[in-house]
Amino acid sequence: MARFTVFGNPVQHSLSPFIHSLFAQQLHVKDLEYTRSLTSPAQFAAAVAEFFRCGGAGANVTVPFKTAAAQLVTHQTDRAARAGAVNTLIPLGHGQILGDNTDGYGLVADLKRQLELSSLIGIHAVILGAGGAARGVLGPLCEAGVERIILANRTLPKAQELVRANSDLPLAYASWQDLDGLSAHDYIVINATSASLHKASLPLSNALLSKSRLCYDMMYAKTPTQFIQQARTAGATACADGLGMLVEQAALAFALWHTGQLPETDEVLRTVRAKLLSS
Ligand code: NDP
Repeated sequence: MARFTVFGNPVQHSLSPFIHSLFAQQLHVKDLEYTRSLTSPAQFAAAVAEFFRCGGAGANVTVPFKTAAAQLVTHQTDRAARAGAVNTLIPLGHGQILGDNTDGYGLVADLKRQLELSSLIGIHAVILGAGGAARGVLGPLCEAGVERIILANRTLPKAQELVRANSDLPLAYASWQDLDGLSAHDYIVINATSASLHKASLPLSNALLSKSRLCYDMMYAKTPTQFIQQARTAGATACADGLGMLVEQAALAFALWHTGQLPETDEVLRTVRAKLLSS
């Protein structure tokens, strides 16, 4: 039996075990067990070490341990190093662990689905937020062809710092008010804040949201998130939540752990959405 887990806190509502069981079924991967591991910040490193010492075959890491995971791995992919955060752990043997970050890939794959595009070349993106999630997607978005990213954050210095730290990328920062002057004709707005989690709305104008080609909230929930409600009220053309991103980041982790083959995700996303709605 190959054992996998997701470390997080809270983690009891994680859909990852369900998603990975659907991928395993689809690709005929047998004898797979994927559990949830609730751990405290103080015990996280020891819990990871123990999991792999006992033969664990791979693990995901979710809130709030992605930064801590980046610090405990012995090797990192370039995208994980840029993000400063790891969501996928791959054992290399002899106590060595490779850390990867599949969140950016997940967002890019879901944006392509939502926009019905095979590449994001020429797209301008407004990213709201400058936390771990924003950090993790900047590189992958630019690699996928996004031409320019404007970062806005409640605490502006954090956005400024992120722009400085990624000076090789086409990034700029803006205050919430500056966003109203955005003149790009083809842009998308990505909410990478956790504001929806607190049912807080963001200080954005209706004009910004209604002219956007897509309003995307990385958060997902059974009912439309606060940001999606705000975008719909503003008359947004199209809205999507982050459930597709979750499924896509899991697909890449699955490929990294197993056959190297990416599972098909459209049907899995429909099944996961149905499960979320019935929960
Ligand atoms: P962090 O805690 O690292 O960052 C939170 C960000 O949200 C900060 O930029 C913070 O701004 C901002 N923020 C929080 N509350 C408010 C508010 N009321 N108004 C304005 N800004 C606010 O969180 P993460 O970056 O890890 O996660 C962000 C979101 O992305 C979460 O909802 C998470 O669920 C989602 N996510 C989804 C994934 C998926 O697969 N779908 C994957 C990863 C994340 P400030 O700097 O001012 O504090």
